[in-house]
Amino acid sequence: MSTTPPNRALPATVDARKLTGQGVRLTGCFCASQLPRLANAVAALPEPVEVTLDFATDEQNQRVVSGQVSANVTVNCQRCMQPMEQHLQAEVALGLVWSEEDAPHLNRDLEPWVVADESASLSDMVEDELLLALPYVNYHPVGECSGASHFSTGEVEAEEKPNPFQVLEQLKKKS
Ligand SMILES: [Zn+2]
Repeated sequence: MSTTPPNRALPATVDARKLTGQGVRLTGCFCASQLPRLANAVAALPEPVEVTLDFATDEQNQRVVSGQVSANVTVNCQRCMQPMEQHLQAEVALGLVWSEEDAPHLNRDLEPWVVADESASLSDMVEDELLLALPYVNYHPVGECSGASHFSTGEVEAEEKPNPFQVLEQLKKKS
């Protein structure tokens, strides 16, 4: 008897055109090893990324992929440099196109997903969505950050550069 959860691992590539024609819902997950760019962008990717995607053809006969991707990642707080949990969630609204040139024909609320042949990289697409959802910098909430009390250090102050406009103002006053 096994206690491991059912295998819900998604395939790295799918025939996206065929799936939209069939009207298929894909639910499952990707593990960190399948998402190397995301894994590199965060301190750790401790849990599998959750994916729910509907492949369909809409009223205007556009092939669309919609749904959500979400992940709990560990990032480093930029103030105290300690790890913190960050929940990432992205809403997916993609229109399938065969090439970049077809992208302008899409409904404007759809992002293009260029699918040149019958094997589209599902893991790349999910990774792109999550990388876009990842904040550029992360901070613990005020009061929960151990770095707040000793944030102002000599090093940080030394890095501060004078505002170029203020310098210009001073030069103007002198002349
Ligand atoms: Zn912090």
